[in-house]
Amino acid sequence: MVICCSTVYALESKPGTDAFPSTLQMLQQKKWIHGSADCDADADPAIEVFRYDPSTYILRQNKCLNFEAPFIYVLFGLAKVLVLDTGATENAAEFPLYETIQSLSNEQPAAAGQNVRELLVLHSHSHSDHYSGDTQFAEQPNVTLIAPNGGAVAEFFAFDDSPDGETIIDLGARKITVFAVPGHQEEAIAVYDSQTSWLLTGDTFYPGYIYVKNWNDYQHSIARLVAFSEKHEVSALLGAHIEMTDRPGEDYPIGTVHQPDEASLVLSAGELIMLNSAIANSDEQTELRFDQFIVAPMNWLQKLLSNIARWLVQ
Ligand SMILES: [Zn+2]
Ligand SMILES: [Zn+2]
Repeated sequence: MVICCSTVYALESKPGTDAFPSTLQMLQQKKWIHGSADCDADADPAIEVFRYDPSTYILRQNKCLNFEAPFIYVLFGLAKVLVLDTGATENAAEFPLYETIQSLSNEQPAAAGQNVRELLVLHSHSHSDHYSGDTQFAEQPNVTLIAPNGGAVAEFFAFDDSPDGETIIDLGARKITVFAVPGHQEEAIAVYDSQTSWLLTGDTFYPGYIYVKNWNDYQHSIARLVAFSEKHEVSALLGAHIEMTDRPGEDYPIGTVHQPDEASLVLSAGELIMLNSAIANSDEQTELRFDQFIVAPMNWLQKLLSNIARWLVQ
């Protein structure tokens, strides 16, 4: 694996026609770096940088660095840049996330009278594959880093009318809406981006094997995501991992470092509605399998480990 570098793959397309698929269609068809059968010989970068539009990027961590290979979303407004998650690796030499985002930031046009953007670092939830890069941001200037624990999350977002409140953050000519979606994990949030109409769902909804810690909270959160997507245009639901193959209903085993036949990252509002219909009537905590994702309750040992991990970041 090539360490220290990132690669930018840009989309250059016009929306609308078969000859020129829309950027969303290209994202649906996108093949990401997906690890290697022999990680010692892997030549891919530690971070793949994918430019969706000039102010919207999706980053993927190399599976050879950490099998979780999470996705990280970087949304530039005129005044602030939102960084959603910081990946599964702390070491900046192996995984130069801060440096990568700084170089993207340097390419962005500055707002009038403002040449430094604030980096706002949030987490889709408080599992370590989504916050391990935080230390790279901690001592940097112009960074607001929200700690991945319940107290800091509640204080920052100050969701009114909890549990159904939401918070709108203005990045500068780009508004994002944030709301709580507990279930996979207590501090899970969803982020809606007004510019792309993306609904970013972390580990709450993604093409993979989705563990649910609190079934009733998860039922409520999925219903809430459906209600939100009925009130707003949602072009895509994008989560933090791919664990499904491109064969319906088939997932890669946990720990896989080579996924040559990955499913698309993109899920649709229709697929969310399908999950909601099934889970709304499923008070029995049982595995629910779909072509594009699988939802399953955590067992007692997984819950215990999750609680210990959560306690460590309080
Ligand atoms: Zn998680
Ligand atoms: Zn995760």
